[in-house]
Amino acid sequence: MAENIELSPKPRILVVGGGYVGLYVAKNLEAAAEAHGDIVTVVDPLPYMTYQPFLPEVAGGSIEPRHALVSHRQHLKKTEIIQGSLTAVNHAAKTATVDVDGESVEIPYREIVMAAGAVTRTFPIPGLAETGIGLKSIEEAVEVRNRVLSLIEEGSTMTDPAARERALTFVVVGGGFAGIETISELEDMARAAAAQNPRISREDLRFVLVEAMGRIMPEVAADQAEWVVSHLRSRGIEVLLNTSLADATGGRLQLINMPDKTPAQTFESDTLVWTAGVMANPVVRQTDFPIEERGRIQANAKLQIEGPNGVVPNAWAAGDVSAVPDLTGGGVGGMCVPNAQHAVRQAKLLAKNLKASLYGEGEIAEYKHENLGAVAGFGLFKGVARIAVPKYGDLKLRGPLAWLAHRGYHGMAMPMFERKYRVVSDWVAAGIFGRDLTPVDGLESPRALFEASAKPKK
Ligand SMILES: Cc1cc2nc3c(=O)[nH]c(=O)nc-3n(C[C@H](O)[C@H](O)[C@H](O)COP(=O)(O)OP(=O)(O)OC[C@H]3O[C@@H](n4cnc5c(N)ncnc54)[C@H](O)[C@@H]3O)c2cc1C
Repeated sequence: MAENIELSPKPRILVVGGGYVGLYVAKNLEAAAEAHGDIVTVVDPLPYMTYQPFLPEVAGGSIEPRHALVSHRQHLKKTEIIQGSLTAVNHAAKTATVDVDGESVEIPYREIVMAAGAVTRTFPIPGLAETGIGLKSIEEAVEVRNRVLSLIEEGSTMTDPAARERALTFVVVGGGFAGIETISELEDMARAAAAQNPRISREDLRFVLVEAMGRIMPEVAADQAEWVVSHLRSRGIEVLLNTSLADATGGRLQLINMPDKTPAQTFESDTLVWTAGVMANPVVRQTDFPIEERGRIQANAKLQIEGPNGVVPNAWAAGDVSAVPDLTGGGVGGMCVPNAQHAVRQAKLLAKNLKASLYGEGEIAEYKHENLGAVAGFGLFKGVARIAVPKYGDLKLRGPLAWLAHRGYHGMAMPMFERKYRVVSDWVAAGIFGRDLTPVDGLESPRALFEASAKPKK
């Protein structure tokens, strides 16, 4: 047990996870909780919420990494913040166990909100864990940007053709929104970096997008997805549909055709970004909450946790960690799909329902949200969008208009005015001066220079 963790003695509304759901639940609840003598506590291993839709633009150097983050301390002034990871919940005893700096802390609570999100879903592919990288955190996005820019610099001076080819081949696995945005942002950035380097020509760079299904981006209409494929190909990006990664040992990537699993191509790369799906945070299995077959916490449309034995009192869930019924009749398997559109709206309703349940303020309501469509950016002035217009159907956009819709939507959706301002400033600066193409090397060994200077000289 941690001896030196000071906890508020007030009855606690414990929010597990300070991402989209956690940030908005805490923000919308903290004042009411304080007024009633309670405290909202957010537990998260990170001191910030990550605006994940901006990760491809961070990887592509259009947004400064810190600007895609929302500080908990700065924006949750009345909330108790505990930087740690939930390891277990004993809801029967109303106690959560949290790992804080390697020490186990028991946190009692009155109500609990499960908002621990999703994690990258992988498959047991040899070599993937050692050579691949996800795109779910700001650290990963920063690493991808630095790696691509550094490899362009290193590759440009290499004399061995095989080593040069390996360094200048960039691969993304997964043809969903995240994968398509990532490969196109990287291509845009890499071409701009190569244009500044006289030792590199356009033909030296290779970009490969691998997708196991026969189409990409299920969030947009089939004709739009086809347009995206031809758009990416026109930019020199190889889009390999019905193709899967079978082996990545030592950076030697073996691809197979799907579904018959016959060998496709084999080549080498130092950059393998994995964006082929997410799954509910597995920590939910360390709780006594009902879990459905896909590993999510079962919830009802009021965002209360509910299992085969009925509603679990004093327990709530929303966002990617939960299976919430989609009352519009859409969704996959009748459940809301994991996206920010749902996460934000569920969080706001959850806070209202919790206030209604605890303090009698208002009525408990059910969650129902008609899909607003989808917007995606593919680098400067390029994008695709499907915007739902009530009564008129879908407005389909592509090119600069879609890109503007993407920036407009996400600029507005970024939480907190000061964060919006920082992100929009980045966009304006990049519009005037171009992308920032400076790689920051040596982040993993920041003391190396100092050590070299401080060591006694012979
Ligand atoms: C690259 C990328 C691009 C995306 N683009 C879009 C888009 O364009 N549009 C869209 O609608 N959606 C998009 N999404 C999806 C969207 O970001 C998620 O659906 C949304 O973040 C879900 O919110 P959440 O609060 O459930 O989870 P998250 O925002 O992931 O928050 C979960 C929080 O829980 C914390 N946590 C994890 N484990 C623990 C633990 N053990 N204890 C305590 N806390 C824990 C995490 O640190 C995190 O802060 C994108 C996602 C990615 C990865």
